[in-house]
This record gives sequence, structure tokens and C-alpha cells, in this order.
Amino acid sequence: SADQVSAGGSAAVDVLNRVFGYPSFRGQQHDIIEHVAGGGDALVLMPTGGGKSLCYQIPALVRPGTGVVISPLIALMQDQVDALRTVGVRAGFLNSAQDYDERRLVEAEFVNGDLDLLYVAPEGLGVAATQRLLDRGKISLFAIDEAHCVSQWGHDFRPDYLGLSMLHERWPDVPRIALTATATTATRDEIAHRLQLADARHFTASFDRPNIQYRIVPKNEPRKQLLDLLRTEHPGEAGIIYCLSRASVEKTAEFLVQNGVKALPYHAGLDNRVRAANQSRFLREEGMVMVATIAFGMGIDKPDVRFVAHLDLPKSVEGYYQETGRAGRDGQPSTAWLAYGLQDVVQQRKMIDSSDGDLAHRRNAAQHLDAMLALCETVTCRRSQLLNYFGQTATTDNCGNCDTCLTPPESWDGTVPAQKLLSTVLRLQRERGQKFGAGQSIDILLGKETDKVQRFRHNELSVFGIGAELREAEWRGVVRKLLAGGLLAVEGEYSTLVLTDASAGVLRGETKVMMRREAPAKVRAPKQRAA
Ligand code: ADP
Ligand code: ZN
Repeated sequence: SADQVSAGGSAAVDVLNRVFGYPSFRGQQHDIIEHVAGGGDALVLMPTGGGKSLCYQIPALVRPGTGVVISPLIALMQDQVDALRTVGVRAGFLNSAQDYDERRLVEAEFVNGDLDLLYVAPEGLGVAATQRLLDRGKISLFAIDEAHCVSQWGHDFRPDYLGLSMLHERWPDVPRIALTATATTATRDEIAHRLQLADARHFTASFDRPNIQYRIVPKNEPRKQLLDLLRTEHPGEAGIIYCLSRASVEKTAEFLVQNGVKALPYHAGLDNRVRAANQSRFLREEGMVMVATIAFGMGIDKPDVRFVAHLDLPKSVEGYYQETGRAGRDGQPSTAWLAYGLQDVVQQRKMIDSSDGDLAHRRNAAQHLDAMLALCETVTCRRSQLLNYFGQTATTDNCGNCDTCLTPPESWDGTVPAQKLLSTVLRLQRERGQKFGAGQSIDILLGKETDKVQRFRHNELSVFGIGAELREAEWRGVVRKLLAGGLLAVEGEYSTLVLTDASAGVLRGETKVMMRREAPAKVRAPKQRAA
């Protein structure tokens, strides 16, 4: 009734002020909280730093019983619970990392109604004993955090999440709120479907992060480029650097330390204690730089991360958005910087081709990669492209805070060079029955008399030396663009170039190939910082 809503509303504001010490709600928080406190189901999409936690914590405090929070972030449960206890919220957690006595204590607190919030790992909920335990207490709501993990086609699938449809079947009267910071329209529908949230109200905040400056640069000497970025724009500031492999995490961290940067490594291969120690130094000390695989970051609440750098291409736009979203949660100007090169495209295509997934999974991975490549190759605003990807429209075509808006890339018609490159691949295959990697085709086009060129008599091909108008880096750009657009493909162990069905359109002059000028553009600092 209207009475209940207004009572819930004022109670919510009261809890916000009294318990959390904040004067007012942000964005849609108030609407979401009233809806859930009133017993409604909700699906909440809000970017990182938007304030999702309060959306279930306050309803849990306002409603009678314990709010059960399902979170995949076991490593962070202790921190989350400690933070809540500091402000006087009665919170506990159950997970596999905890010892028997601790668990018993939390179980008793729950059954006695002494908990406002109980954090549970998703795999725990599948256990019959846990389900029986939950039957013995009073549940005020279920909060399903990182809800995109239920999507098989997303980038972060966790099989345990599929079991969560059971919540609705077993406890039909308990309201549920699912939350995520990343979801395309398709993923959103999948979450609603798999979690049986068909009747849930959807709350979708803007995904725009105006204080983050998005920049994607061609990769030349990545570590040197990175060091340059840190020294000129972020000296002594906290940041996260993502690398694809553990080895490259180690090497990059070492390199930075040698160059006077306070850097720490983080990846799944490190000892648990080292990992936990590095994470806690990053959170507590000032100006620490974390060099990590994507194993790091989910649920990390550090407001003053000033930059997120990627030394390797992320596998999807969702991943990229989520990782870069860890920058600037305090709303201050921050940088999202990605260095990307031909090798990234080759390597990732190869990884997809050689993965053991079935065809549908490989196709799905390829689609994710293609969207990421399109973002890299775009000649228009990165921000509006990102927002479009998540089904949102940008307020303007020129955000003024991404590399393409700050220094508009010259685009040039690369159709003729593209034709030259594709003909080289075609000739090698047709006339010689040979396949080679990108390097050899470029050497041929540039007319380089290398050992390999002479050995295979590639200097006798009619295309030999016809590409002198471009520099080697530009040719690599052409290959990258063709690969990104599916106009060329790589295959096999040696990543040899092969034509695709779409190559013919370029060769016949029906498909135009527009290129970004590769001049290493200097981007000026974001507006707010210039003063
Ligand atoms: P998310 O889970 O969406 O990434 P959090 O719930 O961790 O975001 O909130 C991000 C930060 O914003 C936290 O430090 C939180 O305390 C703060 N915050 C959330 N809501 C408010 C509010 N209404 N007023 C002030 N600070 C808030
Ligand atoms: Zn822009």
C-alpha cells in the first residue's frame, strides 16, 4: 500500500543517514531500495562504482530477517563483512575457505535471527545442508551479485550460478534482486530468463563513465610506452595494469620496479598468501601499481585508481568495460589506456581456433573478439561505441574525453594497399601453393631481399616490391584492419594468412577499407586536469 511505500522510503533514508553516514541517495538507489524493501524483484544494471551494494544492504536492514547475498568473490567476503560490522551492521559469511567453528557460529547467528546480512558463495547454495539451514531462519531477500555470471554467452560464466533458479522455486515469497555492472541487452534477457526474474522491475543506469578517458594506441614497445604513460601522466599514482599471461605479469612488474615504479604482481599462479598480501598493499598503500591477469579486480573497491592499462587485448568489450571501470570510482579524472597490435589479433584468433569448446562456443568467442576489435579500429568516438554496445545511446557523438575525440584520427582509404596485400596472399597460395605469416607478405610487398625471400624466390613474384608507399608499421596496420574485419584470416600453428569469403569483395573493389592514420598521436590531458 501507499503507506508501506512511504514508510519504507523514510526508513531507507534514515538507514542511509544513520548507518552509512551518507546524506542522500545517488541515481536510482532510492527507487530500487523502495521497490525491493516493498517486496518486489529487481534486476539492476549499474556501472562499477555506481553504488550497487546499498541497493540490497538497505532493504535487508529495513525488512525483517536476514538478507542473503550470493557473491562469487570469496576472497573479499571477509573485507565486506568487516566493513559492514564497522558501521554496526550484523553481517557474516559462509564459504569453503572458513573453518568449522567459524561456520558453526555464523549458522547459529543466522538461525537466531542475529544477522542482517549473510554472504554465501554460489556453490554453497547448491549444498542441501545449506538449503536446510536457510529454511531454519528468516530470509528478508536474496541479492545475486555479479549476476552476469549466469550467462553462458557472457565473458564470465560460472556454472554454479545456473543453480540459482532454485531460489525462486524453494523460497517463492522472498524478493530477489540481481545486480551486475556489465550486460548487453542479450545478456540482460538471459539473466532474467535463467534466474526466473521475468516479472522483476529493471533498473538500468547509464553506463557512461565521463571521468574516464578512453585511449587505444598501436602497440610498438609496450613496456616503454607504458612507462612513458606512468611517468608523464600518472607519477606516483595508483593503477592497474592487465596482462594476458602470468609470465608477462611477472616481467612487467619487474620492469616497472627496476624503473622506480612501486609495482606488484598478481595472478592465479602465485601463492595464496603472496596474492592476499599484494592485494592488501594495493588497497592500503598509496600510489601502488598492480600488474595482474584478469584474475584480479572483481569486487575491489578502491576509489582512487587513476589508471587502468591493458598491455594485451581484452577478449571482449564486456571484459574491457569492467576492467577499465575500476579506474576513477571517486569520480576524478582517470585514464583507460590500451596498447593493441597485430600480434594480439593473431594470438587471440589462434586461441579461439585451438580451444576445446564446441563450434557454438568458438563462434561466440569470435563474436566477442570482433566487437572488441571494432572498438579498437573505430574512427569515431570510443565512448559512444562502448555505450552503443551496451544498448545505450551517447548524448553526443563527440565526448571530448577519448582519444578519437581529442585528436581525431585521420582516416584514409586503404583499399588499394589492402588489395595489394590480399593479392600477395592469393599469389602465394595459387602460384606456389604456399601459406605464410604476415611478416613474409609484408617483406614481399616492401621488396625486402631477406634470406627467406630469396630461399623461396618470392622476389620473382609480380607483387614483389609493389608496396613501397607504406612503412612496415602501416602494413601491419593494414593486416590488422583486414583481420579485425574478417577480410583476412589466420590459420594453423604458424598463424599463416588465408583469404576469407569476404576477401573477394575487397579484391574486386566492392568493399572499401578505411584505415586509421597510425601517427603516434599525443593526447592532451582531460579537461578537468589541465588547469
Ligand atoms: P558498486 O558495487 O556499484 O561498484 P559500491 O556499492 O561499492 O559500488 O559503491 C561505490 C562507492 O560509492 C562506495 O565507496 C560506496 O560507499 C559509495 N556510495 C554508494 N552510495 C552512496 C551514496 N548514496 N552516497 C555516497 N556514497 C555512496
Ligand atoms: Zn569520444
